[in-house]
Amino acid sequence: MTSNPDFHAGFAPGYEQARQAWLRAVFSRGGSVHGERHPGAGPDGEPLWQELAVFGDADAPSVFVVVCGTHGIEGHAGSAVMRAWLEEGGPGSLPRGVGVVLVHAVNPWGMAHWQRGTENNVDLNRNFIAFPGVPAPNAGYAELHPHLMLADWSEAEVERAFAAMDALRARVDEQAFSNAFNGGQYLHADGIFYGGHAAEWANLALRRQVARHLGRARQCVLVDLHTGIGPYGQPFMINFDAPGSFGRERARETWGDAALSGAGSTHAALANFQGLMMDAFVEALPGCRISATAVEFGTLERRRMQRAHLANAWMRRQAHDSDALRRAGAEYREAFIPSDPAWRASVLRHGVALCRQGRDAVVASHRTLP
Ligand SMILES: [Zn+2]
Repeated sequence: MTSNPDFHAGFAPGYEQARQAWLRAVFSRGGSVHGERHPGAGPDGEPLWQELAVFGDADAPSVFVVVCGTHGIEGHAGSAVMRAWLEEGGPGSLPRGVGVVLVHAVNPWGMAHWQRGTENNVDLNRNFIAFPGVPAPNAGYAELHPHLMLADWSEAEVERAFAAMDALRARVDEQAFSNAFNGGQYLHADGIFYGGHAAEWANLALRRQVARHLGRARQCVLVDLHTGIGPYGQPFMINFDAPGSFGRERARETWGDAALSGAGSTHAALANFQGLMMDAFVEALPGCRISATAVEFGTLERRRMQRAHLANAWMRRQAHDSDALRRAGAEYREAFIPSDPAWRASVLRHGVALCRQGRDAVVASHRTLP
Protein backbone atom coordinates (compact mmCIF):
# COMPACT_ATOMS: atom_id res chain seq x y z
CA MET A 1 0.00 0.00 0.00
CA THR A 2 1.19 3.50 -0.77
CA SER A 3 2.95 5.36 2.01
CA ASN A 4 2.00 8.82 0.72
CA PRO A 5 0.73 10.69 3.80
CA ASP A 6 -1.94 12.50 1.72
CA PHE A 7 -3.64 9.18 1.11
CA HIS A 8 -6.31 8.03 3.54
CA ALA A 9 -6.83 4.28 4.02
CA GLY A 10 -5.48 3.63 0.51
CA PHE A 11 -7.64 6.28 -1.18
CA ALA A 12 -6.15 9.34 -2.90
CA PRO A 13 -7.25 12.83 -1.82
CA GLY A 14 -8.06 13.87 -5.40
CA TYR A 15 -8.03 12.90 -9.04
CA GLU A 16 -4.51 14.08 -9.84
CA GLN A 17 -2.96 12.18 -6.92
CA ALA A 18 -5.02 9.09 -7.79
CA ARG A 19 -3.90 9.30 -11.41
CA GLN A 20 -0.21 9.75 -10.61
CA ALA A 21 -0.25 6.86 -8.14
CA TRP A 22 -2.12 4.67 -10.63
CA LEU A 23 0.41 5.50 -13.37
CA ARG A 24 3.34 4.66 -11.08
CA ALA A 25 1.73 1.34 -10.15
CA VAL A 26 1.02 0.50 -13.81
CA PHE A 27 4.59 1.27 -14.90
CA SER A 28 6.04 -0.66 -11.95
CA ARG A 29 4.23 -3.77 -13.26
CA GLY A 30 5.35 -3.28 -16.85
CA GLY A 31 2.08 -1.96 -18.28
CA SER A 32 1.90 0.47 -21.18
CA VAL A 33 -0.44 3.47 -20.98
CA HIS A 34 -2.56 5.09 -23.68
CA GLY A 35 -4.96 7.94 -23.18
CA GLU A 36 -7.22 10.63 -24.53
CA ARG A 37 -7.07 14.10 -23.05
CA HIS A 38 -10.33 15.69 -22.04
CA PRO A 39 -10.78 19.28 -23.28
CA GLY A 40 -11.61 20.54 -19.79
CA ALA A 41 -9.60 20.75 -16.57
CA GLY A 42 -9.80 19.70 -12.94
CA PRO A 43 -10.66 22.05 -10.06
CA ASP A 44 -7.01 23.22 -9.82
CA GLY A 45 -6.50 23.40 -13.55
CA GLU A 46 -4.98 19.92 -13.76
CA PRO A 47 -5.25 18.04 -17.07
CA LEU A 48 -7.89 15.32 -17.34
CA TRP A 49 -7.26 11.99 -19.03
CA GLN A 50 -9.22 8.88 -19.82
CA GLU A 51 -6.43 6.29 -19.66
CA LEU A 52 -6.01 2.67 -20.53
CA ALA A 53 -3.22 0.45 -19.23
CA VAL A 54 -2.33 -2.66 -21.23
CA PHE A 55 -0.54 -5.71 -19.78
CA GLY A 56 0.55 -8.74 -21.80
CA ASP A 57 0.13 -9.09 -25.56
CA ALA A 58 -1.10 -5.88 -27.17
CA ASP A 59 -3.20 -7.93 -29.62
CA ALA A 60 -4.32 -10.67 -27.20
CA PRO A 61 -7.43 -12.65 -28.17
CA SER A 62 -8.40 -13.19 -24.50
CA VAL A 63 -8.68 -10.08 -22.36
CA PHE A 64 -9.70 -9.24 -18.82
CA VAL A 65 -10.85 -5.61 -18.53
CA VAL A 66 -11.41 -3.56 -15.37
CA VAL A 67 -13.07 -0.16 -15.71
CA CYS A 68 -13.48 2.63 -13.17
CA GLY A 69 -14.97 6.10 -13.10
CA THR A 70 -17.91 5.66 -15.48
CA HIS A 71 -19.58 7.59 -12.70
CA GLY A 72 -16.72 9.99 -12.05
CA ILE A 73 -16.73 10.29 -8.27
CA GLU A 74 -17.06 6.52 -7.85
CA GLY A 75 -13.77 6.19 -9.71
CA HIS A 76 -11.93 7.13 -6.52
CA ALA A 77 -12.82 3.66 -5.21
CA GLY A 78 -12.09 1.83 -8.47
CA SER A 79 -8.76 3.61 -8.87
CA ALA A 80 -7.74 2.62 -5.33
CA VAL A 81 -8.76 -1.00 -6.05
CA MET A 82 -6.70 -1.13 -9.26
CA ARG A 83 -3.70 0.36 -7.52
CA ALA A 84 -3.96 -2.03 -4.56
CA TRP A 85 -4.14 -4.96 -6.98
CA LEU A 86 -1.10 -3.72 -8.90
CA GLU A 87 0.82 -3.17 -5.67
CA GLU A 88 0.27 -6.78 -4.63
CA GLY A 89 1.37 -8.07 -8.07
CA GLY A 90 -1.49 -7.25 -10.44
CA PRO A 91 -1.79 -9.28 -13.64
CA GLY A 92 1.64 -10.89 -13.04
CA SER A 93 3.19 -12.80 -15.89
CA LEU A 94 0.54 -13.56 -18.48
CA PRO A 95 0.62 -16.46 -20.94
CA ARG A 96 0.84 -15.63 -24.61
CA GLY A 97 -2.54 -14.59 -26.00
CA VAL A 98 -3.87 -13.15 -22.74
CA GLY A 99 -4.07 -9.46 -21.97
CA VAL A 100 -5.27 -7.38 -19.03
CA VAL A 101 -6.58 -3.86 -19.64
CA LEU A 102 -7.33 -1.33 -16.91
CA VAL A 103 -9.41 1.69 -17.89
CA HIS A 104 -8.86 4.60 -15.48
CA ALA A 105 -11.39 7.42 -15.16
CA VAL A 106 -13.73 6.87 -18.08
CA ASN A 107 -15.33 10.15 -16.96
CA PRO A 108 -12.29 12.08 -15.72
CA TRP A 109 -14.15 15.40 -15.37
CA GLY A 110 -16.57 13.77 -12.93
CA MET A 111 -13.80 12.06 -10.99
CA ALA A 112 -11.76 15.27 -10.68
CA HIS A 113 -14.78 17.34 -9.66
CA TRP A 114 -16.20 14.65 -7.32
CA GLN A 115 -19.37 14.37 -9.40
CA ARG A 116 -21.15 11.31 -10.67
CA GLY A 117 -22.02 12.96 -13.99
CA THR A 118 -19.98 14.53 -16.76
CA GLU A 119 -19.23 18.20 -17.44
CA ASN A 120 -22.74 18.37 -18.95
CA ASN A 121 -24.52 16.79 -15.97
CA VAL A 122 -24.86 13.61 -18.01
CA ASP A 123 -25.05 10.21 -16.35
CA LEU A 124 -22.54 8.46 -18.62
CA ASN A 125 -24.11 5.09 -17.84
CA ARG A 126 -27.30 6.23 -19.60
CA ASN A 127 -25.47 7.90 -22.52
CA PHE A 128 -24.49 4.93 -24.71
CA ILE A 129 -27.70 4.88 -26.73
CA ALA A 130 -28.04 5.28 -30.51
CA PHE A 131 -28.13 9.08 -30.82
CA PRO A 132 -29.63 11.17 -32.41
CA GLY A 133 -32.68 9.14 -31.43
CA VAL A 134 -33.65 9.17 -27.75
CA PRO A 135 -35.88 6.78 -25.84
CA ALA A 136 -39.54 7.57 -25.21
CA PRO A 137 -40.02 10.20 -22.50
CA ASN A 138 -39.80 8.89 -18.95
CA ALA A 139 -43.27 10.00 -17.82
CA GLY A 140 -42.70 9.07 -14.18
CA TYR A 141 -39.53 11.15 -14.05
CA ALA A 142 -41.21 14.10 -15.78
CA GLU A 143 -43.82 14.10 -13.03
CA LEU A 144 -41.17 14.01 -10.29
CA HIS A 145 -38.71 16.46 -11.85
CA PRO A 146 -40.12 19.79 -10.56
CA HIS A 147 -40.22 18.34 -7.04
CA LEU A 148 -36.60 17.14 -7.23
CA MET A 149 -35.21 20.58 -8.09
CA LEU A 150 -34.79 21.94 -4.57
CA ALA A 151 -34.98 25.70 -4.07
CA ASP A 152 -32.30 25.51 -1.37
CA TRP A 153 -30.36 22.87 0.53
CA SER A 154 -32.63 22.61 3.58
CA GLU A 155 -34.40 19.77 5.38
CA ALA A 156 -37.79 21.30 4.47
CA GLU A 157 -36.93 21.16 0.78
CA VAL A 158 -35.59 17.61 1.05
CA GLU A 159 -38.78 16.51 2.82
CA ARG A 160 -40.90 18.13 0.14
CA ALA A 161 -39.06 16.14 -2.55
CA PHE A 162 -39.42 12.89 -0.62
CA ALA A 163 -43.15 13.51 -0.17
CA ALA A 164 -43.53 13.68 -3.98
CA MET A 165 -41.41 10.55 -4.42
CA ASP A 166 -43.40 8.66 -1.78
CA ALA A 167 -46.67 9.75 -3.40
CA LEU A 168 -45.55 8.34 -6.75
CA ARG A 169 -44.30 5.13 -5.15
CA ALA A 170 -47.67 4.67 -3.41
CA ARG A 171 -49.46 4.88 -6.77
CA VAL A 172 -47.20 2.64 -8.88
CA ASP A 173 -45.17 -0.48 -8.05
CA GLU A 174 -41.50 -0.52 -7.01
CA GLN A 175 -40.35 -1.38 -10.54
CA ALA A 176 -42.19 1.59 -12.05
CA PHE A 177 -40.87 3.86 -9.31
CA SER A 178 -37.27 2.70 -9.90
CA ASN A 179 -37.65 3.16 -13.65
CA ALA A 180 -38.98 6.68 -13.07
CA PHE A 181 -36.31 7.75 -10.57
CA ASN A 182 -33.18 5.80 -11.63
CA GLY A 183 -33.92 4.48 -15.10
CA GLY A 184 -32.63 7.53 -16.95
CA GLN A 185 -34.30 10.45 -18.69
CA TYR A 186 -33.40 12.46 -21.78
CA LEU A 187 -35.47 15.64 -21.45
CA HIS A 188 -34.37 17.46 -18.29
CA ALA A 189 -30.76 18.55 -18.69
CA ASP A 190 -30.58 19.87 -15.10
CA GLY A 191 -32.28 16.77 -13.70
CA ILE A 192 -30.96 13.56 -12.21
CA PHE A 193 -29.99 10.44 -14.21
CA TYR A 194 -29.96 12.63 -17.33
CA GLY A 195 -28.75 10.58 -20.32
CA GLY A 196 -27.79 13.56 -22.49
CA HIS A 197 -28.83 14.67 -25.97
CA ALA A 198 -25.67 13.50 -27.77
CA ALA A 199 -22.74 11.18 -27.14
CA GLU A 200 -20.52 12.71 -24.43
CA TRP A 201 -16.78 13.25 -24.90
CA ALA A 202 -16.12 10.31 -22.52
CA ASN A 203 -18.40 8.08 -24.59
CA LEU A 204 -16.67 8.89 -27.90
CA ALA A 205 -13.19 8.68 -26.37
CA LEU A 206 -13.93 5.26 -24.88
CA ARG A 207 -15.25 3.90 -28.18
CA ARG A 208 -12.07 5.08 -29.92
CA GLN A 209 -9.78 3.61 -27.29
CA VAL A 210 -11.57 0.25 -27.17
CA ALA A 211 -11.46 -0.09 -30.97
CA ARG A 212 -7.79 0.94 -31.02
CA HIS A 213 -6.49 -1.29 -28.22
CA LEU A 214 -8.87 -4.24 -28.00
CA GLY A 215 -9.57 -4.78 -31.69
CA ARG A 216 -8.02 -8.26 -31.76
CA ALA A 217 -9.98 -9.56 -28.76
CA ARG A 218 -12.16 -12.62 -29.32
CA GLN A 219 -13.29 -13.05 -25.75
CA CYS A 220 -13.42 -10.39 -23.08
CA VAL A 221 -14.44 -10.51 -19.42
CA LEU A 222 -15.28 -7.00 -18.33
CA VAL A 223 -15.93 -5.65 -14.87
CA ASP A 224 -17.09 -2.07 -14.28
CA LEU A 225 -16.48 -0.80 -10.74
CA HIS A 226 -19.07 1.44 -9.04
CA THR A 227 -20.18 2.47 -5.56
CA GLY A 228 -23.56 3.27 -4.04
CA ILE A 229 -25.77 0.16 -4.22
CA GLY A 230 -25.59 -2.88 -1.96
CA PRO A 231 -24.51 -3.76 1.56
CA TYR A 232 -22.03 -1.40 3.21
CA GLY A 233 -18.49 -2.04 1.95
CA GLN A 234 -19.54 -5.28 0.22
CA PRO A 235 -19.68 -6.04 -3.50
CA PHE A 236 -23.05 -6.27 -5.20
CA MET A 237 -22.75 -7.70 -8.71
CA ILE A 238 -25.02 -7.14 -11.69
CA ASN A 239 -24.40 -9.15 -14.85
CA PHE A 240 -26.22 -7.69 -17.85
CA ASP A 241 -25.86 -10.59 -20.29
CA ALA A 242 -28.81 -12.65 -21.54
CA PRO A 243 -29.72 -15.90 -19.76
CA GLY A 244 -27.80 -18.84 -21.23
CA SER A 245 -25.33 -16.56 -23.04
CA PHE A 246 -21.55 -16.83 -23.11
CA GLY A 247 -21.34 -13.68 -21.01
CA ARG A 248 -23.51 -14.99 -18.22
CA GLU A 249 -21.81 -18.36 -18.08
CA ARG A 250 -18.37 -16.78 -18.08
CA ALA A 251 -19.39 -14.48 -15.21
CA ARG A 252 -20.60 -17.50 -13.24
CA GLU A 253 -17.36 -19.39 -13.90
CA THR A 254 -15.36 -16.33 -12.84
CA TRP A 255 -17.14 -15.14 -9.72
CA GLY A 256 -19.67 -17.83 -8.90
CA ASP A 257 -23.42 -17.42 -8.48
CA ALA A 258 -22.92 -14.07 -6.75
CA ALA A 259 -22.35 -12.55 -10.20
CA LEU A 260 -25.82 -13.55 -11.34
CA SER A 261 -28.06 -13.70 -8.29
CA GLY A 262 -28.51 -10.00 -7.59
CA ALA A 263 -28.07 -10.83 -3.90
CA GLY A 264 -27.48 -7.84 -1.67
CA SER A 265 -29.32 -5.18 -3.65
CA THR A 266 -30.48 -2.21 -1.60
CA HIS A 267 -33.06 -1.36 -4.28
CA ALA A 268 -36.47 -3.06 -3.97
CA ALA A 269 -36.40 -3.18 -7.79
CA LEU A 270 -33.49 -2.37 -10.08
CA ALA A 271 -34.42 0.07 -12.81
CA ASN A 272 -34.39 -1.07 -16.43
CA PHE A 273 -31.24 0.80 -17.42
CA GLN A 274 -30.42 1.72 -20.98
CA GLY A 275 -27.35 3.26 -22.59
CA LEU A 276 -24.80 1.48 -20.40
CA MET A 277 -21.06 2.13 -20.83
CA MET A 278 -20.54 -1.60 -21.46
CA ASP A 279 -22.40 -1.27 -24.74
CA ALA A 280 -19.35 0.55 -26.11
CA PHE A 281 -17.37 -2.70 -25.88
CA VAL A 282 -20.13 -4.71 -27.55
CA GLU A 283 -20.45 -2.19 -30.39
CA ALA A 284 -16.73 -1.50 -30.88
CA LEU A 285 -15.80 -5.22 -30.85
CA PRO A 286 -18.31 -7.02 -33.07
CA GLY A 287 -16.16 -10.16 -33.38
CA CYS A 288 -15.65 -10.53 -29.63
CA ARG A 289 -17.69 -12.51 -27.11
CA ILE A 290 -18.15 -10.26 -24.08
CA SER A 291 -19.09 -10.94 -20.49
CA ALA A 292 -20.09 -7.66 -18.82
CA THR A 293 -20.58 -7.34 -15.08
CA ALA A 294 -20.97 -4.24 -12.95
CA VAL A 295 -19.74 -4.37 -9.38
CA GLU A 296 -21.19 -1.94 -6.89
CA PHE A 297 -19.67 -1.47 -3.46
CA GLY A 298 -22.49 -0.57 -1.10
CA THR A 299 -22.35 2.67 0.84
CA LEU A 300 -25.50 4.06 2.48
CA GLU A 301 -29.12 2.89 2.53
CA ARG A 302 -31.21 3.83 -0.45
CA ARG A 303 -33.00 6.87 1.01
CA ARG A 304 -29.64 8.41 1.90
CA MET A 305 -28.48 7.82 -1.67
CA GLN A 306 -31.62 9.43 -3.06
CA ARG A 307 -30.92 12.38 -0.79
CA ALA A 308 -27.39 12.53 -2.24
CA HIS A 309 -28.80 12.70 -5.77
CA LEU A 310 -31.07 15.56 -4.68
CA ALA A 311 -28.06 17.34 -3.20
CA ASN A 312 -26.07 16.95 -6.40
CA ALA A 313 -28.85 18.28 -8.64
CA TRP A 314 -29.10 21.33 -6.37
CA MET A 315 -25.29 21.76 -6.23
CA ARG A 316 -25.01 21.76 -10.00
CA ARG A 317 -27.41 24.69 -10.26
CA GLN A 318 -25.44 26.92 -7.87
CA ALA A 319 -23.36 29.66 -9.45
CA HIS A 320 -21.67 30.82 -6.22
CA ASP A 321 -19.84 29.21 -3.34
CA SER A 322 -21.66 29.06 0.01
CA ASP A 323 -21.66 27.16 3.31
CA ALA A 324 -24.71 25.22 2.14
CA LEU A 325 -22.93 24.24 -1.05
CA ARG A 326 -19.93 22.96 0.89
CA ARG A 327 -22.20 21.02 3.28
CA ALA A 328 -24.13 19.45 0.41
CA GLY A 329 -20.87 18.63 -1.38
CA ALA A 330 -19.39 16.94 1.68
CA GLU A 331 -22.54 14.89 2.22
CA TYR A 332 -22.60 13.89 -1.44
CA ARG A 333 -18.95 12.84 -1.39
CA GLU A 334 -19.42 10.79 1.76
CA ALA A 335 -22.39 9.00 0.15
CA PHE A 336 -20.26 7.68 -2.71
CA ILE A 337 -16.79 7.49 -1.16
CA PRO A 338 -17.20 7.01 2.61
CA SER A 339 -14.17 8.17 4.60
CA ASP A 340 -14.61 5.30 7.10
CA PRO A 341 -11.32 3.31 7.02
CA ALA A 342 -13.24 0.05 7.58
CA TRP A 343 -15.36 0.70 4.45
CA ARG A 344 -12.26 1.49 2.44
CA ALA A 345 -10.37 -1.57 3.65
CA SER A 346 -13.34 -3.79 2.80
CA VAL A 347 -13.64 -2.32 -0.71
CA LEU A 348 -9.94 -2.84 -1.35
CA ARG A 349 -10.00 -6.41 -0.04
CA HIS A 350 -13.06 -7.44 -2.08
CA GLY A 351 -12.05 -5.44 -5.13
CA VAL A 352 -8.56 -6.95 -5.30
CA ALA A 353 -10.05 -10.46 -4.92
CA LEU A 354 -12.46 -9.80 -7.82
CA CYS A 355 -9.59 -8.63 -10.02
CA ARG A 356 -7.50 -11.67 -9.14
CA GLN A 357 -10.41 -14.02 -9.93
CA GLY A 358 -11.08 -12.26 -13.22
CA ARG A 359 -7.48 -12.45 -14.35
CA ASP A 360 -7.16 -16.13 -13.36
CA ALA A 361 -10.45 -17.08 -15.05
CA VAL A 362 -9.41 -15.45 -18.34
CA VAL A 363 -6.03 -17.22 -18.24
CA ALA A 364 -7.81 -20.55 -17.61
CA SER A 365 -10.46 -20.03 -20.30
CA HIS A 366 -7.87 -18.94 -22.88
CA ARG A 367 -6.55 -22.52 -22.96
CA THR A 368 -9.96 -23.68 -24.22
CA LEU A 369 -10.37 -20.90 -26.82
CA PRO A 370 -11.16 -22.64 -30.13
ZN1 LIG B 1 -22.17 4.06 -10.55
